Amino acid sequence: MLSSYTSGIVTIGDLPLGGNYPIRIQSMTNTDTNNIDATIAQTIRLVNAGCEMVRITAQGINEANNLALIKKGLKAKGINIPLIADIHFNPRAAEIAAGIIEKVRINPGNYADKRDSHSNLTLKAYEEELERIAERLHPLLAICKQNGTAIRIGTNHGSLSGRIMDRYGDTPEGMVESALEFGRICLHEGFRNVVFSMKSSNVRVMVQSTRLLAQKMQSEGINFPIHLGVTEAGDGEDGIIKSAAGIGTLLEEGIGDTIRVSLTGAPEIEIPVAIAITERYNASRKQKKQGITDLPTPVNKQFDRRETIAVSGIGGNNPVAVITETNGVKYLVDEHFSATQSLPDHELQLLHWIEGNAAQMRKQLENIKSESKKPSILKNKYQTDNLLRFQVDSAIDFGSLLVDGIGNAIWPLAPKLQPDAVNHIAFAILQATRARITRTEFISCPSCGRTLFDIETTLQQVKAATQHLKGLKIAVMGCIVNGPGEMADADYGYVGAGAGNVTLYKGKNIAYKNIPQIEAIPRLIDMIKQSGDWKEQEESNAG
Ligand code: SF4
Repeated sequence: MLSSYTSGIVTIGDLPLGGNYPIRIQSMTNTDTNNIDATIAQTIRLVNAGCEMVRITAQGINEANNLALIKKGLKAKGINIPLIADIHFNPRAAEIAAGIIEKVRINPGNYADKRDSHSNLTLKAYEEELERIAERLHPLLAICKQNGTAIRIGTNHGSLSGRIMDRYGDTPEGMVESALEFGRICLHEGFRNVVFSMKSSNVRVMVQSTRLLAQKMQSEGINFPIHLGVTEAGDGEDGIIKSAAGIGTLLEEGIGDTIRVSLTGAPEIEIPVAIAITERYNASRKQKKQGITDLPTPVNKQFDRRETIAVSGIGGNNPVAVITETNGVKYLVDEHFSATQSLPDHELQLLHWIEGNAAQMRKQLENIKSESKKPSILKNKYQTDNLLRFQVDSAIDFGSLLVDGIGNAIWPLAPKLQPDAVNHIAFAILQATRARITRTEFISCPSCGRTLFDIETTLQQVKAATQHLKGLKIAVMGCIVNGPGEMADADYGYVGAGAGNVTLYKGKNIAYKNIPQIEAIPRLIDMIKQSGDWKEQEESNAG
């Protein structure tokens, strides 16, 4: 168990990150990096929205060189925001970018390794691979040292190297080791300007791997700041809730120094969500920095899921319930928000009532004896009439417990909001934390300079065709280079394969390669039908 984790401080340009500095907000452009004017214009929109660092794709040498023009153009407009180059596969692009801008993000899964390049390596061969990686990293570290450039070593659940997969599998241990191998090389070379991240589109995997990273770093005496984010979170409310649940769970535990909320669409829409998340924590970090004590300390305890008896449809083998109240009567609602069962007053004392925000609920849960068989109701009241505030706060308060399998029912009370909106959010929180699956899960990347089609419109079209297929995971990804890896555990994938073309995946296998986009959705539907996963609309609603 982690007792406490305080990161060291890394400076990105003039911006200090880590320690008790505020949690920094970052995002990423989705323009073509070779379109200098469009990238500058989008960066300015992000800055005006409150973004503190902007990441830009630099997939090749041209894009990396163009970062100099983008930086110059921003400077000419009086904007001095730290820029981050996003690198995959191309060490030369990283080396060029490191001489131009303030931070370079590399993916240890594909910087020096190929995904399928190794299997059954002996210990000696594994060590030799690490030496090869050290040689590959050496020139980049030399440039970073010379220019004061920082590096983020960003592991993605879906793009681990073949070498790591062979030894650890697709696990949080593998994700952590993938980053630590690179981090240890940096330290060996005397380079400490490093930030780590563990990302996944699965909130539970993202939380578990980042917790494990913090524990391992602590045991090895490493204290690099940590970047938090849920990848391919999707769009709209589902994306907001997934991001808030994953990022907020870790911030509640005192883990995390910078965040990116990744939503499909224009990147500016991510910033108000990121502000709503960081607002919960930045005031206390400021007080800590000023030496003001007597602040609530984060509760790091994780809990074992207890066995419970069933009481009025709650606990036992029942799925996690959603409670609501009308005219003083409490009842459970199903995913279509119809009342299914009322909670009689005489049964209320057979339940543990846990009430408050995430930290308060965790404290109360500590007092429940592990042998108690009473189900727990998690309850909190929100007086806001601001929908985003409610989405973020309820996702963090309930999500941070549900992600560990804690809670048999949730009861978010928001008297100033529409009851159906509140119920919708409650089920989205259960879905995001995989506590109860009642919808199709859409995994979609935020898009970037590699995307060659209108991903927002396409996602809406794919959703319209498949959103009744409860429990299926369907990915819509912008590019064939990273999309297949990053869509991780999707059942079906719709991946951009070049201008006007799409490649469809069934699991990790290609089903249709390079088909015209116009044919893609009908073929996707056919493929789901042939696999036996299709249901007609009424049939699935009836379930
Ligand atoms: S999957 Fe999406 S966000 Fe990731 S590199 Fe490709 S287009 Fe960009």
